[in-house]
Amino acid sequence: MARYSPSIQQLIAQLSALPGIGGKLAQRLAFHILAMDEAKVQDLTESIAAARKLVKRCSICQNYTDSDPCPICSDAMRDKTTIMVVETPQDVSTFERMHEYKGLYHVLHGVFDPLKRKSLSDTTIPQLLERLQTNSEVKEVIVATNQDPEGSATALYLARLISPSGITVTRLASGLPMGSDIEYADDLTLASALRGRVNLSDE
Ligand SMILES: [Zn+2]
Repeated sequence: MARYSPSIQQLIAQLSALPGIGGKLAQRLAFHILAMDEAKVQDLTESIAAARKLVKRCSICQNYTDSDPCPICSDAMRDKTTIMVVETPQDVSTFERMHEYKGLYHVLHGVFDPLKRKSLSDTTIPQLLERLQTNSEVKEVIVATNQDPEGSATALYLARLISPSGITVTRLASGLPMGSDIEYADDLTLASALRGRVNLSDE
């Protein structure tokens, strides 16, 4: 016999389908929502729907944005000769928070991993290659994927693909803890990984 009414069960099921939210947390959130003012619940659902509707991918860097091109791509002060390739939109905000990097970004929205049958089209690598072909200003591509097997495979793959065109491909120094996400690295570690980046083009 079900423990909760069908609508509560449905709410818990929807919440627990979100990343990082297990069954227990989903139940806690569901009962928190049920105890909230109806107006507050409406604000919450409206902001979810509005974000989903308004936020799109920047046609240049593929980061999430309300306006296309995004504020970073349209900023005349940014260094257009460097593109940092990251896995997720969260990684962009991590690097922006650091105030150390002044170039542009490219968000992959995933990693390339032939062993797990993840193909190029699971990422925005095709858009990156097109971007590089039409932008002769770019001199360096910094691959800032996570320091795990998939992130490394993606970095080497990009180096092989891009280096022949004369663009230098670098990767963050491996000062980052192995297997850890860029998102969780502290600013100092990240800044020194950026400064000590290694050239992948000659390998
Ligand atoms: Zn952009």
